[in-house]
Amino acid sequence: MEKMKVLVTGGAGYVGSVTVEKLIDKGHEVLVIDNLSLGNRNAIHPEATFVKCCIKDEKELLSSTIKDFKPQAIIHMAANSLVGESVTNPFKYIDDNVNNALTLIKLCIDNNIPKFILSSTANIFGNSDTLIDESHSIEPGSPYGESKYIIERYLKLISKYYPWFKHVIIRYFNAAGATKLFGEERENETHLIPLVLDVAEGKRDKIQIYGDTYDTPDGTCIRDYVHVEDIAQAHIRSLQDKIRNREYNLGSGKGYSVKEVIAATEKVTGKTIPSEVTSKREGDPAYLVCDNKKINAELYWIPKFDTLESIIKSAWSWRLIYPQGYDNYTLSYANREIVQHM
Ligand code: UDP
Repeated sequence: MEKMKVLVTGGAGYVGSVTVEKLIDKGHEVLVIDNLSLGNRNAIHPEATFVKCCIKDEKELLSSTIKDFKPQAIIHMAANSLVGESVTNPFKYIDDNVNNALTLIKLCIDNNIPKFILSSTANIFGNSDTLIDESHSIEPGSPYGESKYIIERYLKLISKYYPWFKHVIIRYFNAAGATKLFGEERENETHLIPLVLDVAEGKRDKIQIYGDTYDTPDGTCIRDYVHVEDIAQAHIRSLQDKIRNREYNLGSGKGYSVKEVIAATEKVTGKTIPSEVTSKREGDPAYLVCDNKKINAELYWIPKFDTLESIIKSAWSWRLIYPQGYDNYTLSYANREIVQHM
């Protein structure tokens, strides 16, 4: 594949940092735009160009940065992405997520940028007791899912009226795991695997299980955990010119319950993980598992990390290498070669 100039918004975030790492590994030239409100400066690969820019409030900087860099593709990952928060603050999600995407898509049209890859979400699908493929009925489970679905439709509309402009929509299931360089760290963590690992590390006393009366074998919610590096590879494959105006569901195709995640983490870490069952979280469907046949057939994508344990193990290893996460991380960079070859 030819080397490309790729702009990644949200490149300081969890999935963004790993996508940038893998793009650079493949020889692409990467520009990261991030306002660092959720992302971490130390999570930006040192070989990427970084411009700190808020898509919403710094439109002139955004426009001039894009004009200077002349990307051949934009991978748009910057977004608010918490289901629970979106239920309590829907305006933040509809307003920021939708308007920021529209701003970027318009900039693509104005600057002849022919490809736009959107990070979307399985949260656009409603409850289901079967694997979810691309033809599954759309019933966004939350304002977050709704915001992504609005952007999906807008992208399709613009691609119709500007035939040279192509999009790829990638709907993630539950991103998890870490590479040797970049992992999952947030200021206010709400995701299951990092919280369970916090308990294993002794940073939290116990994990709360949000409900055990769902219609699933053990009563807890089932999700499809897909490794962040596998997600990054799906984006890189989507850059191919022949991949035009496509939408893909991206998950491992296997579902694990909250209790299974806790048990697998106990096995990987060798620690006991205390838990307590609490009330259900609003917006949580019982079962969300991906049918990945389409992305497999068209992008030849298969997950390299194909077991829950291998995914959790990678996240645990990252924590052992970087016990302070991205704090003091510059120091760790000096050991990058060593770390990479461990
Ligand atoms: N979950 C839980 N306790 C927690 C965090 C999450 O039981 O402290 C459950 C949540 O209800 C969901 C699953 O774990 O069924 C995955 O949640 P997460 O927030 O990681 O991802 P989401 O599925 O919301 O994108």
